[in-house]
Amino acid sequence: MRVVTSAIGSLAVLAFGCVAPGLGAGETWRAGFARAKITPAEPMWMAGYGSRTHPADGKLHDLWVKAMALEDVGGQRAVVLTSDLLGFPGGMSDAICAELKTRHGMERAQVMLSASHTHCGPVLRGALYDIYPLDDHQRALIDAYSASLEKTVVGTIGRAISDLRPASLAFGQGSCGFAANRRENKEGDVSGLRAAGQPTRGPSDHAVPILSVRDPGGRLLAIVFGYACHNTTLNEYSWCGDYAGFAQIGLEEKHPGAQAMFVAGCGADQNPMPRRTVELCQDHGRELAEAVERVLGNGIEPIAPRLRTAFEFITLDFERALGREDFVGAIAKGGYEARWGRRLLAEVESGRPLATSSRYPIQAWKLGEDRLWIALGGEVVVDYALKFKERFGPKTWVTGYANDVMAYIPSHRVWEEGRYEAGAFPVYGLPAQRWCPDIEERISATVVRLSR
Ligand SMILES: [Zn+2]
Repeated sequence: MRVVTSAIGSLAVLAFGCVAPGLGAGETWRAGFARAKITPAEPMWMAGYGSRTHPADGKLHDLWVKAMALEDVGGQRAVVLTSDLLGFPGGMSDAICAELKTRHGMERAQVMLSASHTHCGPVLRGALYDIYPLDDHQRALIDAYSASLEKTVVGTIGRAISDLRPASLAFGQGSCGFAANRRENKEGDVSGLRAAGQPTRGPSDHAVPILSVRDPGGRLLAIVFGYACHNTTLNEYSWCGDYAGFAQIGLEEKHPGAQAMFVAGCGADQNPMPRRTVELCQDHGRELAEAVERVLGNGIEPIAPRLRTAFEFITLDFERALGREDFVGAIAKGGYEARWGRRLLAEVESGRPLATSSRYPIQAWKLGEDRLWIALGGEVVVDYALKFKERFGPKTWVTGYANDVMAYIPSHRVWEEGRYEAGAFPVYGLPAQRWCPDIEERISATVVRLSR
């Protein structure tokens, strides 16, 4: 993704929202909601897998963007946008946030753009182009769709802000077990392990954080819920939100009028297992929706109407600059690596310097007195969620795939172990093979600072 690797790597943005004043009788949150269908009308290329050979040819269900606007008793606002997409590229997030600043005066700290990471959504402008065999027609469709999507996202967030009305918020946490560490488990082994009552191998995060929003009469307005697992049950040619799409549909059928919104967790090294059939995808969606239902029924605690928001771009350096011989070697391998090598070799030969770092967005919100919501860019491995929950307590919600998805984000452990999630830079088009070895320390230090 060339758009995120230029000189803006040195840009740092830091913004804090104001602290709400003390509560008085009857002082509550205000919340507003809106949604828009984003299922492509054209047969576009689908995102996430390099193995597809033709564009989408149908849909299992529609794709959506859904917005929730929040306002605390002090007038401090924030908005969460969820989407049935692979991830927002940094350039699109920048364009959306610039428009939100112009129209609504919102800072980046106040806007969380998240994606479910479904692998059955459309390719977006500038994202992972090297892994897809795109022709000029497909590139034109992607450009047009992406421009339209930016407008739709801005408009949907605007409608959610216009919809602000008194509401109560509550937080709870359930559990759901279909995610398994894909670096440590063979897909064929997982059902046997579970049947024998054995845990799957390697770290996972089975928590299902839930934020419920109700009107003053107690009617459910929205359920925002998360899970740390790739939305990769399916690899086919029909538009679909994968298990997260089915979970949202199930919850909205159960609660007519409520908006269900899925936020992806730190599931970069987690896959739904077993997988690869529509029936399994529906099963996972049902299991996740049932986990949410159990918490809605029992175990959800109110959140005081106080909101603080913080955001910062940090710079993450690449481990080693690549040269001509690296790209020539990649070209010899064929496939997406050859497309990556050819593109970067052309840049080198034209005399353009290759990026040596990427900017990285980190966001932290505090809801009420003690609910910390951390939102990280990129495909974040599960270690980050587990460590931040250990550090900040079990009420912490850690989201990945937020505001920019530029690469995998390995922990130090995964970086040392190597393999796919430790780098995979050519998949994302970055001109390097992996991050600097202190990536985890850099991210953690910023999260700790923002959380204060
Ligand atoms: Zn992924």
